[in-house]
Amino acid sequence: MSSESTASPSNFIHAMIEEDLKNNKNNGKVNTRFPPEPNGYLHIGHAKSICLNFGTALNFNGACNLRLDDTNPSKEEIEYVDSIKADVKWLGFDWGKREYYASDYFEQLYGYAVELIKKGKAYVCDLNAEEIKEYRGKLTETGKDSLYRSRPTEENLDLFVRMRAGEFPDGSRTLRAKIDMSSPNIHMRDPVIYRILRSTHHRTGDNWCIYPMYDFAHCISDAIEGITHSICTLEFEIHRPLYDWILDQLSSVPCHPRQIEFARLNLSYTVMSKRKLLQLVQEQLVSGWDDPRMPTIAGMRRRGYTPESIRNFCETIGVTKYNSLTDMALLEHCVRDDLNKKAPRVLGVLRPLKVVIDNYPESQVDELDAVNNPEDPSAGTRKIPFSKIIYIEQDDFKENPPKDYFRLAPGKEVRLRYAYLATCTGVVKDPISGQIVEIHCNYDPATRGGNTPDGRKVKGTIHWVSAKHAVDAEIRLYERLLTTADVAAEEGDFKSFLNPNSLEILKNCKLERSLAGTKPGSLFQFERQGYFSCDPDSESGAPVFNRIVPLKDSWAKMEKGLKK
Ligand code: ATP
Ligand code: MG
Repeated sequence: MSSESTASPSNFIHAMIEEDLKNNKNNGKVNTRFPPEPNGYLHIGHAKSICLNFGTALNFNGACNLRLDDTNPSKEEIEYVDSIKADVKWLGFDWGKREYYASDYFEQLYGYAVELIKKGKAYVCDLNAEEIKEYRGKLTETGKDSLYRSRPTEENLDLFVRMRAGEFPDGSRTLRAKIDMSSPNIHMRDPVIYRILRSTHHRTGDNWCIYPMYDFAHCISDAIEGITHSICTLEFEIHRPLYDWILDQLSSVPCHPRQIEFARLNLSYTVMSKRKLLQLVQEQLVSGWDDPRMPTIAGMRRRGYTPESIRNFCETIGVTKYNSLTDMALLEHCVRDDLNKKAPRVLGVLRPLKVVIDNYPESQVDELDAVNNPEDPSAGTRKIPFSKIIYIEQDDFKENPPKDYFRLAPGKEVRLRYAYLATCTGVVKDPISGQIVEIHCNYDPATRGGNTPDGRKVKGTIHWVSAKHAVDAEIRLYERLLTTADVAAEEGDFKSFLNPNSLEILKNCKLERSLAGTKPGSLFQFERQGYFSCDPDSESGAPVFNRIVPLKDSWAKMEKGLKK
């Protein structure tokens, strides 16, 4: 990527924090948090939030907490907690000892709820969910007071204690903040702050049968942890008055963090809601949370995206206050940009076509020098074997080539990468199907290394693999998960836009000798074919490789066009 595009874009959040520091707010301290709910795996949108929260702390010499926001036992699991921690670590961020769980605050949160009741700022309400919704009113009409709104404090305290003690059935009562049923902000119309729910929690077991709602738990958790800047996505802007109201009522909370909103990341050709991603997993429309087509961090890691490329992507998109759709091509550009520097080059044939070099001695093997990475001279060279029978891509041969075809064709000469020049002398076809089964060539022994001592020009260079030395592998090619760029703008179920061609599996691919025994997670550039990662499935059998991205970079092309 050019230095222009990696330059840090203006970050309005940093500007706000600088302002706070100038005014000596929070004694010059900056403490952020990343607060995922452990109800699914993290996705690339979370990566944006992680980079922003941890990055902001690093930038201001502060700290960032990892807080598992686990107040909803019915959807949360240990598996998700573990995956979240693994993904944040893999992205390159370290929370040290700052690992917190909202569930650890249940007792304190209960105490703050009691404080609200005592101050006449909360009441136990017997309306059911439907009635509460009905009484709440609409955006255009004010709400209606619940009949229980004027319950005496003593009665509220007694009922709340008994709610906790399990005397009432699920959903029969709630604790509500007493704010203003005629507020233009619907979230201020006596929001529910506690509900009765008998559900085993992954950390607190059956200790509780009442659970705090997000809006109540989140601001207090922030305050308990001494968060100075609570960064969240735009949809919480309208919750901010409630965030502030709750903290303002509670005299004993340690501090009052500042909530700042930014626009969430939306990425083209994919979905990012955990609910939808869970659906894909549960309905087995993908192989799991780490399916390489998923926008999850686990999926991207398995596919071969590097943490650096994801961090660069987050840096490049920056933070704004307006929602927009980011082009997947930009993310892929960042991935290529990083892999170009790191990935060793190798030769691999995806769709093999057998080539017999007629004038090459039967038992001879040439060990040829190949460059490991032209971007990194320190990567050195390796030997690749050449022999009488090789494989080339089916695409690299045409029996009746168009004029501008510079690869192999009858009577035409081509350069075999790092090896020799070879001329096609014949084609063998299946007598029944008419399909090409092999082609024949003669090579020129004077052109070892691809040089032409007589100076003759050969335009085309193709890759190949020696048949005798080839490593047989499976290669998985990926396309976009969805067929439409902006699924949110479409009508109907997102699943009707799943791309039926998002995965293509190629068997019997032929890879160069050096790829034998490759470890899962290793990254390569297969020359002319793209970047590939060795998949963990290789551990249970034949080698499997994922194509991370093809080489063609539509984003770089676009950028170049813009600069002209
Ligand atoms: P989802 O809509 O996928 O369920 P969520 O917001 O409910 O996401 P959380 O686990 O609550 O998921 O998110 C943790 C943090 O990550 C929150 O601060 C949230 O604002 C942020 N976050 C979630 N999705 C995105 C996104 N697409 N872009 C930026 N930040 C995000
Ligand atoms: Mg959330």
